[in-house]
Amino acid sequence: MIDCSKCPEPGSCCGPFEMEPGFIEKHKDKIQKKPEKIVRTNIGECALCDDLSCVFLNRKTKKCSIYDDRPGICKIYGMVENIRIQCPWFKRSGNPRSEASRKKIQRWHKNNNPILNPRKLNEVEIRLMK
Ligand code: SF4
Ligand code: SF4
Repeated sequence: MIDCSKCPEPGSCCGPFEMEPGFIEKHKDKIQKKPEKIVRTNIGECALCDDLSCVFLNRKTKKCSIYDDRPGICKIYGMVENIRIQCPWFKRSGNPRSEASRKKIQRWHKNNNPILNPRKLNEVEIRLMK
């Protein structure tokens, strides 16, 4: 089990994630930073802030403003073997990763996150937040 209180970079994994359609509007009173735009992909919706952190991340405390209602992808982050949602710092067991393993995961996230690399999106529809 990962203990995020030991994270050297708390909140660093809270980047722009796809959430189910309507989720962002439903929780808009908990938004911590107004997004530049919302990108719709064939998986869901993703609010993009200019600092590339999640709209629901409190920038000062590095805590999630909707923790109990956070999306499923956030709940399983670090708990499955899919590199897209692997914690760079800790293994599923809670043991720390080697530096090489951490760098490999961070490099992959930087190069392959479709939200950060719009060319990798299949279909994109963009609308401004109301
Ligand atoms: S999941 Fe990993 S990167 Fe994210 S806060 Fe926890 S320890 Fe840090
Ligand atoms: S919803 Fe919460 S846990 Fe999920 S990425 Fe955003 S701030 Fe992090």
